[in-house]
Amino acid sequence: MIIIYVLIGASFASWYCCIATRKEQPKQTYSSRSRCDNCHTLIPWYDLVPIVSFFILNGKCRFCKAVIDYRLAFIEIVGGMNFALILYSYSYTPTLILIYLILFCLSIFDYFSLSVPNLILYSLFALSLFLSPLNVASLLLGITISGLLLALNFRQRIIGNADIILIVSYFNLFGITACLIIVFCSCIAALLCILIFNWDSNKKIPFIPFLTAGYLIFILLSPLFRQFITN
Ligand SMILES: [Zn+2]
Repeated sequence: MIIIYVLIGASFASWYCCIATRKEQPKQTYSSRSRCDNCHTLIPWYDLVPIVSFFILNGKCRFCKAVIDYRLAFIEIVGGMNFALILYSYSYTPTLILIYLILFCLSIFDYFSLSVPNLILYSLFALSLFLSPLNVASLLLGITISGLLLALNFRQRIIGNADIILIVSYFNLFGITACLIIVFCSCIAALLCILIFNWDSNKKIPFIPFLTAGYLIFILLSPLFRQFITN
């Protein structure tokens, strides 16, 4: 069963990569079938199986032998594993997996283009308000603080506006302490990544993948954080 879960998660990751990178390929529209970036041959369905096809084809196009971007296979593997991990986690609920799928989609857009589709971002924010266990006063306070942070961030860009909206969505969903734990885990993950991969300090860092990693850590270790979830 776990293999099926990994493949389902990897399929979502594959689809997200496909739509996030299509705007870089003018010949392809969102609804058109996938083509090889190099020879533009239509890719047959049996070469589109996430993770599996990459290894069967040895990371190359079946027709022109051009090398397939290894990052796509890596994202599929990570996406598949994350999906299975949440499904098997102690605190699994369908809502948590839905939020994860939206976050992973935003992460991939942020990773490839350092921007995210507003429709998906604000849909997540609206969902967080709808699902929030907080009272109206707390929600209004959260919205006011996010408005102030966005206004402050307008002049001197410290972090992305999408990052602020996402952090406030965590506040709406889980409360202030849990939100701070998620942001803390995200910052630790980002720091580790910068140190391990020796990230060029002049290059912008897409932070949404780390905010998603923080969410995952929080969900997977939730028995430890249980008392903080809705305070
Ligand atoms: Zn090709």
